[in-house]
Amino acid sequence: MALEMKSACEQCGKSLADGHLAFICTYECTFCPYGAAALEWRCPICRGELVRRPGRVPPAETALSATETAGALNSGVG
Ligand SMILES: [Zn+2]
Ligand SMILES: [Zn+2]
Repeated sequence: MALEMKSACEQCGKSLADGHLAFICTYECTFCPYGAAALEWRCPICRGELVRRPGRVPPAETALSATETAGALNSGVG
């Protein structure tokens, strides 16, 4: 049985669609950034620490940073 990714804040019910910044505890209680900050980064349900939910990195951003790194290396060496 696959784990289901929650898509709403446990505290305020704010919609947290895939790709939105969200915070989860080890039991996957999910909170919006404002709720997590208000709770001082600790889950009120299981007392677990809230950490940033892993999200996708846009391909364009990855390509850009790779190019910048290559450019910096080229100009730095020599
Ligand atoms: Zn919230
Ligand atoms: Zn929790």
